[in-house]
Parts: sequence; C-alpha cells; structure tokens
Amino acid sequence: MNAGKIVTLGEILVEIMAQDVGQSFRSAGPLVGPFASGAPAIFIDQVAKLGHPCGMISAVGDDDFGWLNIERLKQDGVDVGAIAISEEYPTGSAFVRYRDNGERDFVFNIKHSACSKIAVDAAAERLLEDCGHFHVMGSSLFSFRMIDAMKKAIEIVKAKGGTISFDPNVRKEMLNIPEMRAALEFMLGYCDIFLPSGPELMLLTEAKDEASAIDEILKQGVQSIVVKRGAEGSSYHDGTTTLRAPPLLTKEIDPTGAGDCFGATFVTCRRLGRSIEESLLYANASGARTVTVRGPMEGASTFAELDAFISERRQAGASA
Ligand code: ATP
Ligand code: MG
Repeated sequence: MNAGKIVTLGEILVEIMAQDVGQSFRSAGPLVGPFASGAPAIFIDQVAKLGHPCGMISAVGDDDFGWLNIERLKQDGVDVGAIAISEEYPTGSAFVRYRDNGERDFVFNIKHSACSKIAVDAAAERLLEDCGHFHVMGSSLFSFRMIDAMKKAIEIVKAKGGTISFDPNVRKEMLNIPEMRAALEFMLGYCDIFLPSGPELMLLTEAKDEASAIDEILKQGVQSIVVKRGAEGSSYHDGTTTLRAPPLLTKEIDPTGAGDCFGATFVTCRRLGRSIEESLLYANASGARTVTVRGPMEGASTFAELDAFISERRQAGASA
C-alpha cells in the first residue's frame, strides 16, 4: 500500500442554522453559527482527529468565515497549505433550516464564492505528491472547473499508485444535468472504495434492486462498497464478503455531517490496517456520535472519544 496523506479537494463553507425546528427563512428569526463546514472539509477534519496525516485543496475568502475554517482545520491537524485565500471572493456559505418532518432546506452560496477559485495549483500539486489516498465528494462537482480539477487530482494520485474513495453525496436534481451524471459515473469508474447512502446506490445504476446495483458497481472495478443506512447502520460488500453492521442507537440532534464523518472514519481505519469489521464499527460510531452534536463539524471524534462512545452505547443497550 502507498503510505502517505489522505487528501480531499472541494468546498469549504460556513454553515448558519435556524435555531428552531419549523422556523422559516422568509421572515426574521434567531440563527446559530457560523460553524466550520463543507462536506469535504468535515471529512478531512474527521481524518485529522483520528491522527492520520491529511490535507485539503480548497479556497476561502480573506474574511472571518474563511479564517474560522482555516484555523479550525489547522488546529485539528489538517495540512492547510493548499487552501488558497481569495482577495476577490468571499468564503462560501450555507444557511440551513429544519422542517417539522426533519427534512432540511438550504440556501447555498458556493458557485459564486471563493469556491469558484479552487484549482490544482502548485501548492495543490505539492500536497498531492505526498498523497496515498484521495477522497472525492460528489457535492464538490458543482461546475466544469471543479470536475476538471477533480480529474486532474485523481490522475496525479492514481499515477503514483494511490487509492480513491468516492461519496456521491448528491441530490437527485443534480442527476438531471447530463454532464453531472457523466462526472459522477467517471468518479465511480476510478474509485476503489464507494460510499453511497442507500438511495444513492440506485441512482447511478440501471438496477431495479439493491443487490443487482451492488453487483453492477463491483463489476465496473470498484473494490468495495460501504452503504450508509442512517439510523439503520451500514453494510459492506466486496463481491466475496458481505457484512451488516448494526447502528449504535442514539438520539438524533443534528444529522448534518454524519455521512462525512462515517466515510472518513472507515477510510482512515482501513488505511491504518484495521479489519473490515472494526472499521465498520468505528465508522458507525463516528456517524452516530456526529448526530448527537449540533453543528456539522462539531461532532468529529478522536479514537478515544469513539471508544468511550462505543462502550457507553453498549452498556446502555445491555441495560435497556
Ligand atoms: P447526509 O444526509 O448528511 O449526506 P448520509 O446519507 O451520507 O448523510 P447517513 O446514512 O445519514 O449518511 O449517516 C452515516 C452513518 O452514520 C450511518 O450509516 C450510521 O452508521 C450513522 N448514523 C446516522 N444517523 C444515525 C442515527 N440516527 N443513529 C445511529 N447511527 C446513525
Ligand atoms: Mg452524505
């Protein structure tokens, strides 16, 4: 295995959330935040918290929202040398509100923020030189420029024998844009570890049921698929082994970030040589612990925190 950093490329945002469930954004109301955010940023922060060397290619504005993110990532151990600081554009943002039925609505400013400046420049190439594993978030493929940057990074990493993981993290609407579907299919063709949510498994295949979707994707050369199943845990499939990992039951406060922390923990554990079973257990714990904390990146965990969480949930389960 190619040792080296885990690297990702994509959006850095601040997230600002409506304080109360059911609160509208069409009138004034209390807001909470700004929180450090962006799916790839949450992913890489979780890798850093587990103590694995890592870095991120991105761009922020020269403003408080940008510095909040850079300082946070740096403090947690992420190499921030390939995060560009734009004089021209502000840091990206996402405002989120929660409906009474638990659904989330977002107001995003990504395309017209510093995120539009993300590129594989000299600093990014230096970081990719040390990269052993590269992670792609589908949510980062929001423009042709981003798709090109992602392809360039993948080619550099693959040429050096590195591996790729891919979390589609898409909304269905994105797939109606033909170029976007082509980009997602391209990423699937290159990835070693595929990390979809249950419904995303079906979106990228012609299959009518989950088992055939898994077969179809494995036949394309993907080595392993880990399906995220929210409050139902997760499962692992590589064509020979199928494992189902039960959830660590917990009270959901804020679901944002669970999938990102789950993926980061699974990938990191595998690169540290942990078994599939153990990696799934830690990934489930990481996702479950994230939903107990308000704020997208606030629930990222260290191994010590995951160990404590696992034994606490097991004791609670035993006495229930
Ligand atoms: P997102 O909607 O943020 O993209 P996702 O679909 O990528 O999320 P989820 O399946 O929601 O990811 O969550 C990832 C993992 O976190 C799950 O596979 C599970 O292990 C854990 N998890 C999420 N929600 C819960 C919950 N309510 N209880 C226990 N575990 C949970
Ligand atoms: Mg997700």
